[in-house]
Amino acid sequence: MLKELYHLISGRRRSMLLSMFLPTFLFGDIFDADAASQRTYQPTQAQRRLEAQRRLQNQRIAEIRRQNAARNAAKAAAARTADTAARAAAPKLRYTWIKSQRYILLRDIAKFYGLSLVHTKTGAVLRGAAKVDLYYNKRLASIDGVTVYFTTPPVLRGSNAYLNEKDLLLVLDPVLRGKALAKYPVRTIMIDPGHGGTDKGAAGAGGRLLEKNLNLSMALKLRAALRKLGFQVIMTRGADSTLSLQGRAELCKKYKPDLFISIHCNAAAQKTISGIETFAMTPNGCASSNDSKPGNSTGTGNSFDKNNYRMAYEIQKALLKNTKAEDRGVKHARFFVLRNASCPAVLIETGFISNLRESALLNRADYQAKIVNAIVTGVLNYRASYR
Ligand SMILES: [Zn+2]
Repeated sequence: MLKELYHLISGRRRSMLLSMFLPTFLFGDIFDADAASQRTYQPTQAQRRLEAQRRLQNQRIAEIRRQNAARNAAKAAAARTADTAARAAAPKLRYTWIKSQRYILLRDIAKFYGLSLVHTKTGAVLRGAAKVDLYYNKRLASIDGVTVYFTTPPVLRGSNAYLNEKDLLLVLDPVLRGKALAKYPVRTIMIDPGHGGTDKGAAGAGGRLLEKNLNLSMALKLRAALRKLGFQVIMTRGADSTLSLQGRAELCKKYKPDLFISIHCNAAAQKTISGIETFAMTPNGCASSNDSKPGNSTGTGNSFDKNNYRMAYEIQKALLKNTKAEDRGVKHARFFVLRNASCPAVLIETGFISNLRESALLNRADYQAKIVNAIVTGVLNYRASYR
């Protein structure tokens, strides 16, 4: 009975009653103050509406916060799952140290590119979407039939083959994977016909054939072909004029082309030597292909190592296909114009003016057209490789 009565009394009255019946020392001043404020507080209609609005607003904010927290937690969980999956799927690249350089296990490299690995007596073959032939203790290798040069030879340690980390990153990867390349636009191309004016370059056919003239002839044809495709073309020289290497590098810096292509003819004391080779700037700390000692670079050319090599590879590949010339490979060299280029750059040795047969070919308009068309194809394939 007393209990029912107790519940009939409103909350406010109840606390008043409690304050009367219960000894105040149990609750102290707080209870008293609360009871007092409840007794005197009479909110107006407007205040009640305002409080109701505020409560609703607080509820909404709390709900939004809860939803955001849930969404972020879900995102973080998804990212963790993806990361774990990616880490599990991507093969680890195990390595060893040889002469304080990092060498990557070839088996792991093959797995990374989804290629099979077969060991041969002298080296190894990676096969699948691409074919890579490499040889232990030799820098010469080939990718899809095109000769390339590693900066150091692959090595065999016990039953494990290894490739220098720099050769994986700066030779193999740019050629096998367009994603490895920087996505530079290709709109303006600078063509650099080697030598000119008082600098005749190499000579062939008993001195009647001059490298400077062949270079210019091919360069002018290349300019026409590239312009026809909508490229903007700038020549370092468009006539038989003298121009220093420094002057060529300065033109590159001044006009800021997207690509730099230097055209040359080769020469050798041994007259039987023939063939085409395309050069990219030697990576810093590495040995050039025609040199066994590593060297350092100081120019701007090394900023484009990967793109340099892929462009050189694509041009060399197209040149071999069009001309059927001897493949002397995609090589590294610290040529002045490559070292100081402010964009991806290559230097093409289109053939040996010192070789009787090849110099005769180089002097023919149809052979020059083959070379020019190949360079165009190489440029287009290079650009397509990362677009
Ligand atoms: Zn030259």
